[in-house]
Amino acid sequence: MRVTVIGTGYLGATHAICMAVMGFEVLGVDVDASKVDTLNQGRVPFFEPGLPELLTKALESGRLRFTTSFAEAGAFGDVHFICVGTPQQSGSEAADLTYVDAAVTTLAPYLTRRVLVAGKSTVPVGTAARLADLLHGLAPAGDRVELAWNPEFLREGFAVDDTMKPDRMVFGVTSAWAEQRLREVFEPVLAQGVPVKVTDLQTAELVKVAANSFLATKISYINAMAEICEATGADVHDLAEALAYDERIGGRFLRPGLGFGGGCLPKDIRAFAHRAEELGVGQAVGFLREIDGINRRRRARTVDMVVEICGGDVAGKRIAALGAAFKPNSDDIRDAPALDVAATLRAAGAHVVVYDPAAMDNARRAHPELAYATSALDAARGADVVALLTEWNEFREIEPSAMAAVVRRRKIVDGRHALDPSSWRAAGWEYRALGRPVVQ
Ligand code: NAD
Repeated sequence: MRVTVIGTGYLGATHAICMAVMGFEVLGVDVDASKVDTLNQGRVPFFEPGLPELLTKALESGRLRFTTSFAEAGAFGDVHFICVGTPQQSGSEAADLTYVDAAVTTLAPYLTRRVLVAGKSTVPVGTAARLADLLHGLAPAGDRVELAWNPEFLREGFAVDDTMKPDRMVFGVTSAWAEQRLREVFEPVLAQGVPVKVTDLQTAELVKVAANSFLATKISYINAMAEICEATGADVHDLAEALAYDERIGGRFLRPGLGFGGGCLPKDIRAFAHRAEELGVGQAVGFLREIDGINRRRRARTVDMVVEICGGDVAGKRIAALGAAFKPNSDDIRDAPALDVAATLRAAGAHVVVYDPAAMDNARRAHPELAYATSALDAARGADVVALLTEWNEFREIEPSAMAAVVRRRKIVDGRHALDPSSWRAAGWEYRALGRPVVQ
């Protein structure tokens, strides 16, 4: 079975490479010619642990190549995966479906035989049914071209493992033939005992946004508790640990801090709230706006905490911002809380020096006004405050005394509850974290 993967960003490149490693003939398709060239030359255009090695392996096997030609894709594929972006529309909470629509309408005229088009992008419920109509109208093979929805749950930083052995698979289909095709193309995954839920198109679309909404809710829930803790002198860290012992609650995604960002959670919950309103059931998920609001307040509160610890004004102060990526093990800076905080402090007159182990190039492009360092210690040199904004392991391992030796003042804001306060305080640092009591 030959597979095309349309859209070769974080999701599509990973999917294409993993499918080739699993033994399929794969053609990756993207409108971005430079991305296609980079991948064909054996370089992954973003940071993802383990992926460069697999790309080399897949290219050497001769089973993987990349193209910009939809004609080639149409002739090649038995299953076409749609993996293009669905960002937030500018000026609206809604998802921008331009790229998904373009991928389908460009591919359709080349579909002259019975094939399956399987969407993996995250889309508002009802999109798949609309795309199916579009395909049937535009493809020479008409309704012999079938559409399925197979939402993707991979996490950046763990994308290879999540693709090779996901927690579950969801097949949204309208026929037994489509289900069978998906079972064949995911046979190496399903053979490991990965559970599969076969359902209709709209349920499959919803599983993804419902899952992301739940995760966002869990994060904002504990961050709302952090706000209460700050008002009462309670310690949200202890609170979260105590809650986590209850198996019905669990500890995952219950870490208080600067909140979520990235190219998925924020835009997915906004698009979901917007779509629910379009469907006349906006009230059902109106709480997602509150979740978003709590999350945005985390960034503002982190900025306030840095200002407070500076004595009320950051103008002229030197601030080391540790982290730029929206989360560790990624170079993705889309809607990154860390960069948001860094840029806001810079706008307030601070001299902000950023260091991130993987996201420096992306950060520099997006925020040329910030200064950049070559290491955490380099960023901290002469700093009035150190702000930990992305919880890379490298930052957890910083020796408080080593950093104390290079800063101007020993003041640290741990925006991710990533450090052990007692060891930092023991080394003479004033340590602050959202939702934790101030110790003088
Ligand atoms: P991305 O921006 O990294 O990649 C999208 C790619 O699609 C780009 O390379 C772009 O050039 C290409 N593209 C745009 N229009 C195209 C077209 N008409 N034809 C071919 N290629 C086209 O985005 P991403 O992070 O990979 O996300 C893709 C989708 O997957 C989104 O819907 C996202 O919500 C979803 N998703 C992402 C993740 C993740 O962790 N990144 C996880 C699960 C689901």
